[in-house]
Amino acid sequence: MESARGCLLLLLSFAAVLPGCWQSPNAQYGAYPPASLTPPSSPPPMIIQRPLVVQNPWKPSVPSRDWRHIVIHHSASEGGSVESIDKAHKGRGWDGVGYHFVIGNGDGMGDGEIESTFRWRGQTHGAHAGNNEYNQHGIGICLIGNFDEEYPSPAQMAAVKRLVAVLKHEYGVPSDEVIAHRDVKATACPGKHFSIAEISQSVELPLVSLPVSGQYQVVGAWQTVGTLPGMTVERSLLR
Ligand SMILES: [Zn+2]
Repeated sequence: MESARGCLLLLLSFAAVLPGCWQSPNAQYGAYPPASLTPPSSPPPMIIQRPLVVQNPWKPSVPSRDWRHIVIHHSASEGGSVESIDKAHKGRGWDGVGYHFVIGNGDGMGDGEIESTFRWRGQTHGAHAGNNEYNQHGIGICLIGNFDEEYPSPAQMAAVKRLVAVLKHEYGVPSDEVIAHRDVKATACPGKHFSIAEISQSVELPLVSLPVSGQYQVVGAWQTVGTLPGMTVERSLLR
C-alpha cells in the first residue's frame, strides 16, 4: 500500500515537471506558437444548435380527422375557461364545449394557456362555425376575451401562433385556410381587434442559433433571446 502511494507521488511529481520540459525547447527556438498562428485572446463563442423537431404536444391518441381548416373565435366575454364554455354550450343543448381548443387570458385560465377539449382528444366534429363544412373539417380555436373591445394579450397571440403553426404542419392545413369565424358566417367573431392575417402565416421554424459576437458567460442551458412569428428563438450562451 505504502509503495503504491509512493509510486503515485512519483508519477505526480514527474507530471508536474513535464510542462517545464516542454517549455525548454520552445525557449531555445523562439516564441511559440509563431505570431501568425497566435490564437485570438478569447475563443469564438460556442453555439449549440438544437435539432429541428416540430413538436405536437396536442397529438391525439386516436386517428386524426380529415382537417382542412382552422377557424379562430373569441369568447366575447371578459373571462372564461373550457369549463365555463362547456357549461354555456351545454345550456344551448349541445353535447359540450363546441371548440377543439381554448386559449386563456388570465381570467379563468392562464394567460396564453392552451387547453384542448374532448372534441380534440376524441377527434370529433366541432360545434363552432355555424357552417357544416367548417364544423366537420375545421379545427375550432377560441381565445378568451372580447376583441371588439380589447386586444388579445401578447401571450395569447404567441400561443395561438404556436398552436396554428403546429396544426398547419401536422395536418397540412394551408395558410389561406386559417380563417376567422366571420369569414364563414355573418358574425363579428373574433372581433375587430383580432388580426387573422397576423397568425395565418404562422410556421413552426426550427429553433435556430443566432450568430453572436463578444464574450458570454454560461447563464443556463438555454436562454430565450427573441421571438419570430410563431416561435421562440433560443440559443445557448457559452463563452
Ligand atoms: Zn366564433
